[in-house]
Amino acid sequence: MRNVTRCRTKVVRALPVLLLATDSSRQKPPEKRRFEAAGSTLAAPRFAHCLAMKKTAPPPQACPCGSNLAYARCCEPLHQGQPAPTAEALMRARYSAYVLKLHDYVQATWHASTRPADVGEGDADATRWLGLEVKRHEQPDATHAIVEFVARYRVAGRGHRLHETSRFVHENGHWYYVDGDIG
Ligand SMILES: [Zn+2]
Repeated sequence: MRNVTRCRTKVVRALPVLLLATDSSRQKPPEKRRFEAAGSTLAAPRFAHCLAMKKTAPPPQACPCGSNLAYARCCEPLHQGQPAPTAEALMRARYSAYVLKLHDYVQATWHASTRPADVGEGDADATRWLGLEVKRHEQPDATHAIVEFVARYRVAGRGHRLHETSRFVHENGHWYYVDGDIG
């Protein structure tokens, strides 16, 4: 398991370099080009081993919120405690939290006045989230915002579409989800 983790890190770090392989390297044998692109010929044998394991190592994780950014550069910092800069960012992070079953984040970002006792982990676990589309984000003043979105999901093989206009408030340096109108 430790080997897998180490290799995954190397592959992820090397991928952008591989993608940037220049024309001048095009004439070289593919294997040699890969090792040079990785920045070290000394590491070639170990890197070759990692390349062989690439099938089992996942690519950099795309953010579930559909932003086209890597999760690590999008919703993950918010899940780790960074305040959401906007209500839309919070909305996206809450959607990603549903996808990743981070129930504590969903709970913590729900305003205390409307927050349920629990977020229905049983129901949430039965839901397969398929995608998010943010249609509108308006912030009429410093402490209030609305975000209109469509989220698609599947439960027991049946597809559903949630179209909601959500209300958010900003308190003590954080945005909170209050409630929403469905439809
Ligand atoms: Zn995201």
